[in-house]
Amino acid sequence: MLQSPSSFTRELERHASAPRRITVLGATGSIGENTLDLIGRNASAYQVVALTGGRNVARLAELAILHRAELAVVADPSGYASLKAALAGTGIEAAAGEEALLEAARRPADWVMAAIVGAAGLRPTLEAVRQGTATAIANKECLVTAGAIFMAEVARSGTTLLPVDSEHSAATQAMVGAKPERIERICITASGGPFRAWTLAQMADARPEQALNHPNWSMGPKVTIDSATLMNKGLELIEAHHLFALPPDKLDVLVHPQSIVHCLVYLADGSVIAHMSCPDMRTPIAYSLAWPERMHVPNGRVDLAKLGALTFEAPDVARFPALRLARQVLEAGGGAPTVLNAANEVAVEAFLRRRIGFLSIASLVEATLAACPDLVASAPTTVEAVLAVDSAARNRASALLSRFALAG
Ligand code: NDP
Repeated sequence: MLQSPSSFTRELERHASAPRRITVLGATGSIGENTLDLIGRNASAYQVVALTGGRNVARLAELAILHRAELAVVADPSGYASLKAALAGTGIEAAAGEEALLEAARRPADWVMAAIVGAAGLRPTLEAVRQGTATAIANKECLVTAGAIFMAEVARSGTTLLPVDSEHSAATQAMVGAKPERIERICITASGGPFRAWTLAQMADARPEQALNHPNWSMGPKVTIDSATLMNKGLELIEAHHLFALPPDKLDVLVHPQSIVHCLVYLADGSVIAHMSCPDMRTPIAYSLAWPERMHVPNGRVDLAKLGALTFEAPDVARFPALRLARQVLEAGGGAPTVLNAANEVAVEAFLRRRIGFLSIASLVEATLAACPDLVASAPTTVEAVLAVDSAARNRASALLSRFALAG
């Protein structure tokens, strides 16, 4: 659960007259761009400390100049020379590589957005948490791979953790004022993705461009594919388990094709608190950016009369086995979530490169879990151990790829 707003509020009051110092890890991605869009609309309220990217040097340099960042870091070391050249004469520091990424996360700031995709986000996000910087967490993979370690660091540093995933942001808002023991369960919603009504035979031939064509949300490629397989919802169950300290049997998923209701919180007195907003990530990002206040977001408003109906259905785990696998892994614990996440990252990349078919994403994850009883058996207790399990699981998933390779 979130800490009380008091320490963060005091921090805000201390800086009441000064712009808030913010860092965006993963600035060149979908969440990073949306975050900077909101910051750009309120430029006098923020001072950008550091922006980081993975490989997209040109966009990183543009954003750093536009937002007058102090530091720009590209994770790929080979991008250093071009980043330095692009920032020449601007006074913005350029740096590259993993250590520089950690340094960006460590730079004193009031708020950091953790929006690097995948397990690559784990160390930089933890670095920000260890500093005690209020952390808006979009990167769900770091909670999936290292949830217990991550939450222990949050508790130790006393940092404020602000969920950005729309469902977890919604849950946070719907749970305000509810004692944990009075929460019977929470139910996160899934749009169902582009293949919600497809048969297994149709999905067997699904191409990357079809899977990337999400009906409601505009997101980066990895999370869009995860939404098409419903692995995203499985990762979110594990994320919710850690964020809200709820056991697996109090966590549920409903398919809701309109993506208006993001989460339902069931309380002991029979009340159900639902959170609604149009499907635009700037709304949950804004909640984390302005928290504990609210800020204006220039996006659509929910118009129930126009929508007419909101529909809900149970997820079909026979057609979307990734959700079943993620739930099994959540219940099993140990190293299983780390293995599942690593195998899924390998599988999604292989699908996007047209090396395996859509249905093979979940099959490869399942085969990797079965091939890794040693890694699955016990929970890694240090970040180094998590990264070792992650790396070993990636190797095994890569070795299994040929079993699922597409002909030709
Ligand atoms: P994108 O793929 O759009 O962006 C990812 C960002 O991470 C980019 O800045 C990318 O840099 C950077 N990056 C990639 N690899 C590395 C690496 N090895 N080291 C450092 N940086 C790296 O992803 P999204 O913005 O869609 O998602 C980010 C996270 O937020 C994910 O964990 C996702 O699950 C989560 N999320 C996203 C939502 C969305 O609407 N997009 C909704 C809810 C959660 P570059 O592009 O320069 O290579």
